[in-house]
Amino acid sequence: ILDERNEPLVATVGSTRVPAQEYERVRASVSDLVAGIRGVPDSVHQVHVADLADASYLKTGQAVHDAHLLELNGRPAAVSVMKIIPESEDVPYPHGREYLLLSIRFLDGSFITQLSEQNLIDGLRFSSTNTPQLGEVSVPVKSDVGHHIGYFIWNPDLPGDRFLKSVGPVMAAAAAMILLLLGALVRRLRQSTTALERTVLELKASEAQAHHLAFHDVLTGLPNRALFADRLDHAIAQMQHGEQVAVMMLDLDRFKHVNDTLGHHAGDSLIQEFAARLSKLVDHEVTITRLGGDEFAIVQTFEAGSDAPQALCERILAASTQPYDVIGSQVFVGVSIGLVLAPEAGLDRIELLRKADIALYRAKGEGRNCYRLFTPEMDETISASRIIEEDLRVALATG
Ligand code: GH3
Ligand code: MG
Repeated sequence: ILDERNEPLVATVGSTRVPAQEYERVRASVSDLVAGIRGVPDSVHQVHVADLADASYLKTGQAVHDAHLLELNGRPAAVSVMKIIPESEDVPYPHGREYLLLSIRFLDGSFITQLSEQNLIDGLRFSSTNTPQLGEVSVPVKSDVGHHIGYFIWNPDLPGDRFLKSVGPVMAAAAAMILLLLGALVRRLRQSTTALERTVLELKASEAQAHHLAFHDVLTGLPNRALFADRLDHAIAQMQHGEQVAVMMLDLDRFKHVNDTLGHHAGDSLIQEFAARLSKLVDHEVTITRLGGDEFAIVQTFEAGSDAPQALCERILAASTQPYDVIGSQVFVGVSIGLVLAPEAGLDRIELLRKADIALYRAKGEGRNCYRLFTPEMDETISASRIIEEDLRVALATG
């Protein structure tokens, strides 16, 4: 604080009181500024003070106030001088003899550090010469009256760049992690899909296998009784004009003997060999099935009036004259065949099978190793014997 003669009354550095004589260190540098605010005509600052007289931001009540950038003892400084004028009109004060408040803030040192930290300006410093390093920028600092003071120099990294620099590696690591996770997920998904596809294929295969098992005989691989019924129904339904369907029931002769003498296993292999021989004798018009045990059945669609079924029976009988090689032994097993023809003998599957069975029974009865064609007379004989059988049972029961 300067008195009316511009002599120091009180001085502080920061918040510490220092001897008023400390003012002498800056007196020469600020004297013209002080003269300007006192209205001394020679002062270069007088015009400036006059210009600022109406600037609201520089006025406190009626106090006139001036602020400047100066070079003070070789350092940049912001210096302000303000007349100390009472707020109230009631307090009288001597015009032209006001005390002055002189404030100095050095712009290097703590100010520049604070500015740099608050505004995230990297490497901000003051230099009296314009010597920025690679990547730095500078701006000149001039006093209000045009005196060159020095340069502010800093690294012009944007706060965003700095942010990127600090979080960039973390973000890159996170992105890499996410990519790795995604990669792992995709691989896992692909493996699951492959496994699923394999399972579906296995399921389809086992479904096909189950379907095959349901309609085929395990020992020979031939169609079984269920598929035979289906094929016979189909053959009857699809029978064209000029076509006939033959049904043959086959039963090996004295097959039990093979089982009894050579064992069940030998019996199995004979059944397989017989099935293979049958398969070689027929074309696609013919379905061969194993009904079970040593019983087989054949459905054949043929040209009406031809003797194709009889010829097939002959071929089967001829094939059966060959011995079977069963576990090192030669075995001779004949076959008996019951033959029935549709539509003469009917068009109903059950009925046709019953009649084929009767014919087979006849073949067995007439010496085996032969075939017999069903005739209505056979049916009558069976019916007659059934009646006799029944009469005998009643006679025995009644005495
Ligand atoms: P027939 O001349 O009157 O036909 O006399 P058979 O000895 O051939 O006797 P039948 O046809 O009545 O019986 C067939 C036998 O076949 C009855 C059973 O012991 C046997 N058998 C049934 N299924 C199988 C099988 O899967 N494997 C074997 N090895 N034998 C079977
Ligand atoms: Mg038999």
